[in-house]
Amino acid sequence: MRELEAKAPLETPGDLERRTTLDPSDWRDFSRNAHEILDDLIAHVESIRQRSVWQPAPEDTRARFTRSLPREGRQIADVLDDVRAHVMPFATGNLHPLFMGWVQGAGTPIGMLAELISAGLNMNCGGRDHIGIEVEQQIVRWMREAFDYPEDATGLFLTGSSMANFLATVIAKVDAIGDATRETGLRSASRELIAYTSKASHGCIAQAMQVSGIGSANLRLVDIDASGALRTDILQDMIAIDRANGRQPFLIVATAGTVNTGAIDPLPEISMIAEGEGLWFHVDGAIGALAIFSDKLRHLVKGIERSHSIALDFHKCGQVPYDAGFLLVRKGEVHKRAFAQSSSYLQRADRGLPAGETWPCDLGVDLSRGFRALKTWMTIETLGAERLGASIAHTCELADYLAKCVRQSKAFELCVQPTLNIVCFRVRGEDDSINRELVLDLHESGIAAPSWTEIDGKCVIRCAIINHRTTRNDIDTFLSALESLLEKRLNP
Ligand SMILES: *Cc1c(COP(=O)(O)O)cnc(C)c1O
Repeated sequence: MRELEAKAPLETPGDLERRTTLDPSDWRDFSRNAHEILDDLIAHVESIRQRSVWQPAPEDTRARFTRSLPREGRQIADVLDDVRAHVMPFATGNLHPLFMGWVQGAGTPIGMLAELISAGLNMNCGGRDHIGIEVEQQIVRWMREAFDYPEDATGLFLTGSSMANFLATVIAKVDAIGDATRETGLRSASRELIAYTSKASHGCIAQAMQVSGIGSANLRLVDIDASGALRTDILQDMIAIDRANGRQPFLIVATAGTVNTGAIDPLPEISMIAEGEGLWFHVDGAIGALAIFSDKLRHLVKGIERSHSIALDFHKCGQVPYDAGFLLVRKGEVHKRAFAQSSSYLQRADRGLPAGETWPCDLGVDLSRGFRALKTWMTIETLGAERLGASIAHTCELADYLAKCVRQSKAFELCVQPTLNIVCFRVRGEDDSINRELVLDLHESGIAAPSWTEIDGKCVIRCAIINHRTTRNDIDTFLSALESLLEKRLNP
């Protein structure tokens, strides 16, 4: 050990020419550059409100990223200047309090710091005995606790809920027709497998059916009520018809927070139907699951604790930086049976680095994985579940406020009373195109960034208020900007 600690001799110029390591030759210079960019980033987030929500990248900036592969490197200071000039000003905009497009988290400074630490440690969290695995298990334990899942429930970080929903579909398939399906595919099924979800479910549910080999033609899209929630009477009928026709219902995917309107399917009723029919009950909680952190909102997701699995996104309402999707599975043993493999190069031992029985790579298709758990742990540890829950509740109050303002306005009409933090409305008495144009006008103005979607075949302006920085004032600013842009379009 002593010898290892001895200082390496200083490098001579000749050594420098022959350097093969990729570490900096001047650590002090590196440190100075690193501190400068960190300060710039902190200032960037602190002053986010003073900038445009979004601006398109100019041609010379786009041209910077069309160069050919560099043979030689450049000074770190030069590269960081490029980042300052050509990357930082042209980001998506989702940090800004008036970003309301799609459903995107805003991140936090603590999450930013966590990413720096993760990258510095550069751990591969696919498996083995190291602290990254323990940190991930802490989140698994917290999610078991939050959703009242049993001790043997398993959890796994993934890119996002799209992947989590896909994995859940595969696990439900293995549970329905047995492990043999891993080798023989759908030949293991004696009857056609059928899954159910609502018409308002996210497109990734249909994609999960496609990629799992079952096929999206075997996904029944159940009608929704006026709030956008799945109609259980119709679900029940559809299951009965499929059984009468000799098919095998195996999975119901309920949504807690639909992507278009934030509606929540009736989870307690769906759980009873799933139980009565012997079906896997999965909840796509990408938007709504973390409402469990809020005393005010928790009742909305009642019944989620009776599910077989839950997909959720820490990177949306949880404000953890991208990406941080998560899957929780009640029967950990089924989860493992769906994915675990035995490979000579991944053998376990009872000591040393290869220790540990179940590794994350046994629970999904990723082998190499980053340390998504650290930014989630640091976010929850620093802010606490209560404060995170309160920030979600606040976004829901803002959605109610916006809905109220829209209802009172002469220019706009509300499409659906919001359940969570998504508000959809349109210009009164005008066609689809003006709604779309208004959204784009707003983007280009740099003032705000909502998106649009379709409800009942009509284009509507959609505000997903996911950002913890948004205030009532911002909602007022947004509406008055929208009104004056509308005025300009109607009376040019
Ligand atoms: C965002 C979303 C998804 C997809 O999640 P990703 O994290 O983007 O992969 C799935 N379902 C719903 C309801 C969503 O809002």
